[in-house]
Amino acid sequence: MRFELEPHHRDTPDDTLIADLRRVAVESGSSSVTIDQYNDRGRYHATTLTRRFGSWFKALELAGLPKTRNLNIPDEALFENLVEVWTKLGTQPKYNQLTKDVSQYSSGTYEKRFGTWRRALEAFVSWANEGVAPLVDAIPSNTIRRTARTANWRQRAIVLMRDGATCRLCGASPQSGARLHVDHIIPWSLGGETVIENLQILCEQCNVGKSNIQV
Ligand SMILES: [Zn+2]
Repeated sequence: MRFELEPHHRDTPDDTLIADLRRVAVESGSSSVTIDQYNDRGRYHATTLTRRFGSWFKALELAGLPKTRNLNIPDEALFENLVEVWTKLGTQPKYNQLTKDVSQYSSGTYEKRFGTWRRALEAFVSWANEGVAPLVDAIPSNTIRRTARTANWRQRAIVLMRDGATCRLCGASPQSGARLHVDHIIPWSLGGETVIENLQILCEQCNVGKSNIQV
């Protein structure tokens, strides 16, 4: 058996390890924590916990969390998170920009799933492109309400990439502190459809200003 040093965490109290495990559960917003998730977000390595408590399940039990082997995050959730990150950053997210305050998942999670960060972004773009159809023309014109009121994640992604994550009216971006919204050019209430041709990025201020004029 190989001997491995564990110099820094040997003296860490059990309570501290368990508290950190609970923190990761809360921060990742999931009911339990997988070893991968813990290694992404935890202050220690999962091995420190499994050695201390005997197994991962035992550590979860002590933290009052349900047992989980590997909570498979669906690709969809990873892509939706990227839309959020992109909106918050206002630019195409870089590998080292997926910090806890803007992203639910770490860059490591994307790398593990897609191989490289670049491939993750490529997969994201092809996923988003699947949301481009259908065009208004393709939908029978006798249908009164033809599309959903709110843009779906794919449409949001496309519009963000097309408009460059800056307000189409005033040019504000998250870098200058703006919050971005996806807006209907022709309001949905006036028959405007939820298709990318009728969607644009507006900052919160311009969006509010616009709806005031319509009322
Ligand atoms: Zn604006």
